[in-house]
Amino acid sequence: MEEPFIACDNLVKIYKIADLETVALQGLDLVVAPGELMGIVGPSGSGKSTLMNILGGLDRPSAGRVWVDGQDLLKTSNADLNRYRRSKVGFVWQQGSRNLVPYLTALENVELPMTLAGSGRRKRKRAEELLEAVELADRRHHRLAQMSGGEQQRVAIAVALANNPKLLLADEPTGEVDSTTALTIYETFKRLNREHGLTTLIVSHDPGIARHVNRVVAIQDGKMATETVRRSRTEGAVEGEGDDGVEVEDDFHELVVLDSAGRLRVPKEYLEQFGIKGRVMLDLVEEGILIQPVPESVQVQAAEQYVGELVPEAETRSSKAFALLNAARRRVVGLASKLRRRRGE
Ligand code: ADP
Repeated sequence: MEEPFIACDNLVKIYKIADLETVALQGLDLVVAPGELMGIVGPSGSGKSTLMNILGGLDRPSAGRVWVDGQDLLKTSNADLNRYRRSKVGFVWQQGSRNLVPYLTALENVELPMTLAGSGRRKRKRAEELLEAVELADRRHHRLAQMSGGEQQRVAIAVALANNPKLLLADEPTGEVDSTTALTIYETFKRLNREHGLTTLIVSHDPGIARHVNRVVAIQDGKMATETVRRSRTEGAVEGEGDDGVEVEDDFHELVVLDSAGRLRVPKEYLEQFGIKGRVMLDLVEEGILIQPVPESVQVQAAEQYVGELVPEAETRSSKAFALLNAARRRVVGLASKLRRRRGE
């Protein structure tokens, strides 16, 4: 297999504010090949932005491993991480205007980061090339304020390319535009990816993103949950059909991610449909592995055996006392922190 461009192994990110810890990533695995165009979807709070910030060198993981283009982002020094971010990564945010100055023209906006980076001489020509790459050459002298949302977002993409990055990270780039405009933005990403081999990761809420990228991974609770891939056209299609001008519909497959420890996340609807909870029966059948609910009789027996065998009566009483003690301790700790908050500590 080709050397991956991005490799995340068991990535963990814990944010700590006062006494409260949030586990934003909990053992995330991800491999991205050079030149991939990939979508990342997932509910709000699932860890998408955290992952983008880590891949972009804006933040560091708490544990695990993350490699981008042969560089270990966990172990690298602060100075090297800054250098990595400035030289290898381009960012596109939801509000295109976040990186742009409204009273400057498109050309001036693209030149600005090059001026700041001290690459003075060739910047006019390079800025023109970049605006051409996002198909805005004819709008280069328009001020940002005179441009549509989609055009502004494409200027933002050109700005993100100013440092000639190898990795383009886009966080909800179509979040604030209508679906027609979103299409032009996706087209721009596709063209840049095709023509310049730019590895591109796009975070999106848009379920339709699968049509515009090679692969979509879904994050849930800080972990990869599923991956949607396009089935190769020749596979399911009747031979010759495509050649005869009959349009072949794209065919997508949602695959469940199996992590390195052998764990997989079974969709909630499937579990609910079969009333599966807590434990399952796994059986080998001819086609693969069958997951079944545990018959009631087995569950009752197992529970009886567990209680009967492992917890003698005396110990049950002492664990009750232990639980009571623990509850009391929690109440004291809670009261103490409430008091501290009231005193403004
Ligand atoms: P998404 O982008 O999928 O909406 P995020 O990566 O922004 O998710 O957030 C994942 C979790 O981490 C959330 O519970 C969020 O509240 C928390 N979180 C994100 N950034 C911070 C931060 N800087 N400090 C504390 N908690 C954070």
